[in-house]
Amino acid sequence: MIRTGRIIPAARKESITLAAEVIRKGGLVAFPTETVYGLGCDALNPEAVARVFEAKQRPSFDPLIVHVAEKAALDGLTQTISLSDHRLMERFWPGPLTLLLPKRARVPDLVTAGLPTIAVRMPSHPVAQELIREAAVPIAAPSANPFGYVSPTCAQHVADGLGERVDLILDGGPCQLGVESTIASMIGSRPELLRPGSITLEEISKVVGPVVRARESLTMAVPGRLARHYATHTPLTILTGHTVRSVRPLGERAGLLAMTAPRHGDQRYCAIEVLSPSGDLREAAQHLFAALRRLDAQGFDRLYAEPCDERGLGMAIMDRLRRCAEPLT
Ligand code: AMP
Ligand code: MG
Repeated sequence: MIRTGRIIPAARKESITLAAEVIRKGGLVAFPTETVYGLGCDALNPEAVARVFEAKQRPSFDPLIVHVAEKAALDGLTQTISLSDHRLMERFWPGPLTLLLPKRARVPDLVTAGLPTIAVRMPSHPVAQELIREAAVPIAAPSANPFGYVSPTCAQHVADGLGERVDLILDGGPCQLGVESTIASMIGSRPELLRPGSITLEEISKVVGPVVRARESLTMAVPGRLARHYATHTPLTILTGHTVRSVRPLGERAGLLAMTAPRHGDQRYCAIEVLSPSGDLREAAQHLFAALRRLDAQGFDRLYAEPCDERGLGMAIMDRLRRCAEPLT
């Protein structure tokens, strides 16, 4: 197979046909979803899955999310589906909700990092849906970026990060939601939220009752939940009030990630990225990763980020910012 990393327009029918063929032959295709761009491969082909880990330099203890286009595909992947899972699927699929389900033996262990559970979701993006249908296999896809870096929200981000390590990049324009899927588990005694995303804890609670936010623990140290992840190369500090702003070292060249438009132009920063001029959280989430990448590309000494309210979608935005702000150890 020719390793090109080339970007082709997803809108063309022949692009999908070609991409599906690459997947079926064990290749890697980056494709748009409503959350971020995924690096997809045939979930049931262990060699293809191994190539995804290699391309991303992802440690093998970090399990992948498997994408399906219809519920019937779950029969081959999972053993049982609880009533709560069914309800969540009814309400939120297709969409940005990943659920943990007991896995079948035929799912390669590499996909689930040896865990007895498989993470599955049904994306709503038409290109993702068409690709999965045409490939006629479940597609394992982590975000299409080198391990630990900020996730890609457009085709160029994928090319910048993975280059020729990906066979084909389907360009479907910028992602609408911009943060990775919500991950929830109905497996334990209580519904758990493992990773906040666009589908909020409040929304899930309305369907299955009270949801607990899973605590970070060493036993579940999977990287979507590692302390430092989704991180810029430039160190980032979350502003906690006027103190942090005023104690900034003299002469430091800094960029600001602002939630809404600053009322006065702030001369102290070399560059300011505004996530949503009107303070809309959906818009802020959509622009978050692209803005972080633009700031990161400018070689500043440090980036500062304004926090947002941790309700609804704000929980996912703050989760990603905190993981980005965590110091390198
Ligand atoms: P992403 O890198 O956005 O594709 O998300 C993958 C993340 O999903 C992992 O880092 C884990 O946090 C989570 N995940 C995937 N599969 C499982 C699983 N079987 N059990 C627990 N978490 C999982
Ligand atoms: Mg990722």
